[in-house]
Amino acid sequence: MPCIILDIHNFTYINSFFDVAFSDEILKKFSQNLLEQFKKYNYAFIARFKSDEFAIFLEIPENQTNNIETFITEIFEQLNKKIEIHQLEFYLNFHCGIALFPEHSKNARNLINLAQIALKKCKTENIKNIEFYTKTIEERTKLYFLVQQKSNYFQFNNEFFIVFHPYNHIQSKETIGFEILSRWNEPNYGNIPPDQFISIFEKSGLIKSFEIALIEHFIKTYQKVINNEFLKNKMFSLNLSPISFGDPYLMEHIITLFLNSNIPLSSIIIEITESSYIESFDYASQIIQKLKNSGFNIAIDDFGTGYSSLRYILDLNIDFLKIDKIFIQNYNDKKSYTILETITHLSKSLGIKTIAEGIETEKQLELIKQLDINYGQGFLFSKPLLLNQLINKI
Ligand code: C2E
Ligand code: CA
Ligand code: CA
Repeated sequence: MPCIILDIHNFTYINSFFDVAFSDEILKKFSQNLLEQFKKYNYAFIARFKSDEFAIFLEIPENQTNNIETFITEIFEQLNKKIEIHQLEFYLNFHCGIALFPEHSKNARNLINLAQIALKKCKTENIKNIEFYTKTIEERTKLYFLVQQKSNYFQFNNEFFIVFHPYNHIQSKETIGFEILSRWNEPNYGNIPPDQFISIFEKSGLIKSFEIALIEHFIKTYQKVINNEFLKNKMFSLNLSPISFGDPYLMEHIITLFLNSNIPLSSIIIEITESSYIESFDYASQIIQKLKNSGFNIAIDDFGTGYSSLRYILDLNIDFLKIDKIFIQNYNDKKSYTILETITHLSKSLGIKTIAEGIETEKQLELIKQLDINYGQGFLFSKPLLLNQLINKI
């Protein structure tokens, strides 16, 4: 039996645009439509849960239990979304979070909580109208709450630390630099992968102080190893979230931190993603120019996965394109191969160096050699290394 929590999309706008009595009318009409829609089922319990949210417990007919998602989707497709009040017409849209009895929980209150967790995901992503509860969604929500409890004071070398992922020259195989990747070992939770915590830091507003703390830690670490002959002439790449990149004061702060260190800025590569310039191209090209004038190198990370057109890179003053691992790993697919060829040709003619990500096999390396991609990074060469592993390897 599913427990469905339904939330009317953008009801706050209606509420603030019309008076309360009018909005109440809309809610009443919508509830009538809900009752009408569900009355044909054997057991359906419907309640207004809070403001514009409704809770529905529904018994699924026996012949439909294998296909609950389609069954519920069809019910909501048939629901009359048109509301007419005083000759005004509204089309209401909604999001639903669903948890199942007894699979997800046997307790009604708990089911409601789980359905709300699913609803939260549905509302934030705003891609689908219906979202079922899953363990992954719950983990993510837990992580979100965990992050909310953290202060924005990040201490590295402890819970947080950095690893160095080498990238190599394809033809000579020589390591030319390292990408700095962050790691989080949460005392109660264990290791949390960066692609999970970075996006949560971005949503919760912690990303800027996190990236500043990471850069400060990197500068301190660099100063400890500066005399190491092997590391002296290497490049170091740092990932910057579009949120940090979008803040001119923070960018100014980063430039100052580096200028006050004794690190040659020509050895630093700032990696930004396509989303960093897609929204505000003029701003992005100005900041890129500022970074370049200070001596930094710029790389576009995960290239090919965003929605930006190739045209953008013609107008951005960048040094490296990091071709996303998806194209390397799907090189057998004709489309991926064509994209690899196009990116490489274009970069070459623009004087931009290319780095292939995620090289795991000799076959992939062979292909990258043939395409004449300049550099490569991947588990075939090395896994990301802790500083002491890196020093021992030298
Ligand atoms: P990324 O910037 O694309 O970093 C490369 C990711 O691919 C790393 O994962 C690396 O371990 C992984 N990788 C490299 N070679 C291979 C390979 O051959 N096979 C496979 N399967 N994976 C490979 P990681 O460390 O889990 O980082 C994931 C993402 O998290 C990074 O992707 C980056 O977007 C983000 N990230 C990590 N640290 C930071 C940070 O300090 N700031 C920001 N903004 N993002 C970060
Ligand atoms: Ca990167
Ligand atoms: Ca990447």
